[in-house]
Amino acid sequence: MDLGKLKELLIKNGYKVTKQREIIFNTLIENEESHLSPEELHEIVSKKDKDIGIATVYRTLLLFEELRLVYKLDFDDNRYRYEIVNDGEKHHHHHLVCTSCNKVIEVKDDLLENIEENIEKTYDFKIDDHELKFYGLCSDCQKNNRSV
Ligand SMILES: [Zn+2]
Ligand SMILES: [Zn+2]
Ligand SMILES: [Zn+2]
Repeated sequence: MDLGKLKELLIKNGYKVTKQREIIFNTLIENEESHLSPEELHEIVSKKDKDIGIATVYRTLLLFEELRLVYKLDFDDNRYRYEIVNDGEKHHHHHLVCTSCNKVIEVKDDLLENIEENIEKTYDFKIDDHELKFYGLCSDCQKNNRSV
C-alpha cells in the first residue's frame, strides 16, 4: 500500500486527493504495527498539521474503511483501532492482545488451513474468511508479574 494507490483509489471513487488525507494515510503506514485508535492517530497527525481535527480523522477513517484501505479492529477494550490493509494479504492476520498493557502483537502465520478444511467437510460450509484474537499476557507483562 502506498500513496500512489491511495490517490488512484480516491480518484476512481470520485473523491478528492487532499493533503490531509495523504497525511493521515502516511501516518497509518508509518505506524503500521501500532493499531492506532482514532484518538492516538489524531495526536500524531495534529503534530504534522494542526488543522486536522478529530472529526476529520473520524471522517477520513470512515472513508478509508469504505475504500478498503484500512481494517477496523475491535479488541474489546472500549475503542476501535485501525490498521492499513497490506497488499497481497490474502487474509487478515491474527492478533495477540495483552490484557495487562493492551499491546497488540501480530501473528503472521495463519495455522488455520487445516481447521477450515475440517469444518468445510464436517459442516458442508464454504468458508470465506475467519477472525481470531488471542487474549493473554505479553512477554513483558509476564516478566513484570513474576518480579512482583
Ligand atoms: Zn503486556
Ligand atoms: Zn494487525
Ligand atoms: Zn487466519
